[in-house]
Amino acid sequence: MSKDLRSFIQQMEQTMPQDFLKIKKEVNPRFELCAVLRKFQESNQFPAVFYENVKGTKMPVIANTLAARERLALALETTSHALTKEYAGRQHDLKPVMRVDHGPVKEIVLSGGAVDVTSLPQVVHCEKDGGPYISSGIMILKDPDSGVYNMGIYRIQIKSKNKLGIYFGAYSHAAHIFRKFEERGEVMELAIAIGHHPAVYLGAQYRGPFEISELEVTGGLLGEPLRMVKGETVDLDVPADAEIVIEGRIPPGVREMEGPFGEYTWYMGDALENPIIEVTAVTHRRDAIYYDIFSAHPEHNLTGLLGREAILWERLKASIPTVKQVVLPFSGTCRHTVYVSIKKEYDGLGKNAALAALAGDPFMKMAVVVDDDIDVLNESEVLWAICTRVQADRDVFIIPDAYVCELDPSAYDIKGKEIRGYLNCKWAIDATKPVEIPFQERAEVPEDMWKNLDLKYYLES
Ligand code: MN
Repeated sequence: MSKDLRSFIQQMEQTMPQDFLKIKKEVNPRFELCAVLRKFQESNQFPAVFYENVKGTKMPVIANTLAARERLALALETTSHALTKEYAGRQHDLKPVMRVDHGPVKEIVLSGGAVDVTSLPQVVHCEKDGGPYISSGIMILKDPDSGVYNMGIYRIQIKSKNKLGIYFGAYSHAAHIFRKFEERGEVMELAIAIGHHPAVYLGAQYRGPFEISELEVTGGLLGEPLRMVKGETVDLDVPADAEIVIEGRIPPGVREMEGPFGEYTWYMGDALENPIIEVTAVTHRRDAIYYDIFSAHPEHNLTGLLGREAILWERLKASIPTVKQVVLPFSGTCRHTVYVSIKKEYDGLGKNAALAALAGDPFMKMAVVVDDDIDVLNESEVLWAICTRVQADRDVFIIPDAYVCELDPSAYDIKGKEIRGYLNCKWAIDATKPVEIPFQERAEVPEDMWKNLDLKYYLES
């Protein structure tokens, strides 16, 4: 048996039943489905929820699957503490895909006039979203020059039975590939997989070089090759064990309004002129389970976390052997803020680490570098280091007019800071102590006196 969404659901049911809920009552995919998750969020709970009855569709929906670190860990069969380094290690274990002749995703094949994406669950997540969105579609493309496959997750608006709108950021590999097709005046064929083992979702979030296929990275994350089967209407292979696959093509030179959409920033991402997808086929399992990712919610942030943390960890490690930890905190949407701790061996290293972090992934907007006595998973300690080790005129530096992401609500245009656009000002705080100038020591009780102290001894009468 290959790993798929069903094998993961079974694993959740067996190993963490308290975090896996089934809801039998009918829910409306317009707001109500996310309202349940939002209510849980109010008390800091993030269970995976399986909705058996969703209005307007025969398909059940699973949501919030990756909304907790423990389930990211389950997806990679590791612990929540070891996640980043586990992903970083496995992303090099490239496994070529396994081509198969048949797959469960072909149990139902609908093409031509039979195509109707409005029969899928029409999930509307946030109040001001432009309409129903597929937030969990893994888009599969092929680079027209090298033939290397690419995977990525983008927001996809359902516009009609056979038309979708799609938004991919200017930095993305999808945008890079689309530019090539568009310059040649050719349609770009694509496939969108919905519902698979979470490791496939994490593989689609790989941030490494363009030349490396996310399909092969996914094999490493899964621990087995990803099974692929021939597309029906496109010259592409599609994941054989997905729940649903949409096939289609993007015509060159066509743009339509898409959005707005509640984003990972937890703001409403702007409506934009974006490409459209003409849907040519939908295939799915007979009893397909639809997979949703709640967009303006921790699930979205966590799904995109590991690929970035892993690549930053590696890039920093490559230039600074004494880097201790790299974290993308929730307060920075798991995207735009990076905390780095280093053992500072010589002066200047803090600034170099900050530059490496900012350059490590386009999304990095603010880098904070601290010494290795600071736990970067503890945000108060990071802020304490900034408070006590930083002089802003010397330790803060700013790089204007760089690219971060146009979804940052403060991003601006090259024509002016008041105009919305995709430029951003990157900045860094070097909160490390100097090496060659004496610096006050931390005030602390001797560690051997308190670390293993048994308080019960003192509390006994
Ligand atoms: Mn890629």
